[in-house]
Amino acid sequence: MTSYSKILVAIDLTEEAPQVLKKAKRIADTFQAELTLVHVVEPVGYAYGGDIPMDLTELQEQLDKAAKSQLEAYGREYDVPPERQLASVGRPESEIHRLCEEKQFDLVIVGSHGRHGFQLLLGSTANGVLHGAECDVLAVRIT
Ligand code: AMP
Repeated sequence: MTSYSKILVAIDLTEEAPQVLKKAKRIADTFQAELTLVHVVEPVGYAYGGDIPMDLTELQEQLDKAAKSQLEAYGREYDVPPERQLASVGRPESEIHRLCEEKQFDLVIVGSHGRHGFQLLLGSTANGVLHGAECDVLAVRIT
């Protein structure tokens, strides 16, 4: 492969997201590729092992809404149209793998804190995306 035409950038909506987005935008512009943004909202129940006796629907809806409006703001700032701003629910690694296969992205860009040793054993999203990805993965070092 000498070029990329469909690039997916995964953003976590923290203050670190612009670092990843800026690089992704530059890379997409360089290759004249189509850039798509994705944020994966994790189901709130996951954090509690799925067994807290409460209706979490409203909280989940609020999280989804907040994710969508942040994606829209980034879409405007980085010139990515609404149809290429994806908000998805699930585990980030598996959702990113699923989208890559479904929408045939040829490059996925994620941020990486450059963890090593014990921290790496605990896992990171970048590591999870790399393992099992069907396309190239670029990890942007977050400083
Ligand atoms: P982490 O390993 O959680 O520190 O995240 C590293 C990178 O993984 C972030 O910079 C994003 O590129 C990606 N990432 C983490 N969480 C999500 C998420 N919920 N949705 C999309 N991408 C994510």
